Amino acid sequence: MMKFTVKSRGDDFSNTLQQRVMSYLLDFGLIHDEKDPEMVITIGGDGTLLQAFHDYSDRLEDTAFVGIHTGHLGFYADWVPDEVEKLVIHIAKTPYQIVEYPLLEVVIRHIDQKEPERLLALNECTIKSMEGSLVSSVEIKGDTFEIFRGDGLCISTPSGSTAYNKALGGAILHPSLASIQVAEMASINNRVYRTVGSPLVLPQHHTCLLKPLNEREVQVTIDHYTLEHRRVKSIQCRVAEEKVRFARFRPFPFWKRVKESFIGGS
Ligand code: NAD
Repeated sequence: MMKFTVKSRGDDFSNTLQQRVMSYLLDFGLIHDEKDPEMVITIGGDGTLLQAFHDYSDRLEDTAFVGIHTGHLGFYADWVPDEVEKLVIHIAKTPYQIVEYPLLEVVIRHIDQKEPERLLALNECTIKSMEGSLVSSVEIKGDTFEIFRGDGLCISTPSGSTAYNKALGGAILHPSLASIQVAEMASINNRVYRTVGSPLVLPQHHTCLLKPLNEREVQVTIDHYTLEHRRVKSIQCRVAEEKVRFARFRPFPFWKRVKESFIGGS
């Protein structure tokens, strides 16, 4: 029997729904396993799913995610509370499809630490300076591409391209494209400083290496976490080997989700 867990955002409505989903699935004979679930159902918003992704990022191969949104339509949380009974029957009774999306691998190296830190992002990694402008060299595939000076850089996954990246003028990428996108945050461009000015889309195996130049107190975010502000030597980004797996019980094409989220119904 399948092992599952249900994660709630923590508000009253999401908690009540969590209890309902839990008891329906137990009635169907599924096993509640918080530690090693095969399916993780999140109730809340995209933030709840991002949190669950990080909770189970060490067992992505054996875990499928599905999100119910109790606020507005989410990119990852695309089921509504009224559909809970239908969803539970699907989970318990029908074989489901798995859709895999690419992830971003971030390797942070520190000046005084031997072991690099390796992280995975579902949406993006951002690098900003703790104070003043970020000055960083940007190397692509081993060659210096530019010296960036400005507010910061955002490196996103295709499924994260509709999040922070979009607000920075980045393109929306279909998650079938195993790629990462580098978008600038307010770069300084004049006769002295020059950056490409356009978002860059890098394919699998093309590494983007950032080396902060002015001072090493940078702020690194991974999805909803702010992680690092110590003596950073370099931040290396590329498409991860791992993928995130979503359980699909009905078609909900990516472009339809983009339309419903940003343009609205016809
Ligand atoms: P939050 O509560 O500030 O919510 C951010 C919003 O982003 C929510 O409306 C959420 O539904 C939406 N969102 C998250 N992932 C998305 C995706 N892949 N596509 C489209 N929309 C998405 O923060 P949170 O819920 O903890 O989410 C963290 C995310 O917030 C970060 O990963 C980053 O992408 C995003 N963010 C966006 C901006 C911006 O647009 N200017 C600034 C900071 C962070």
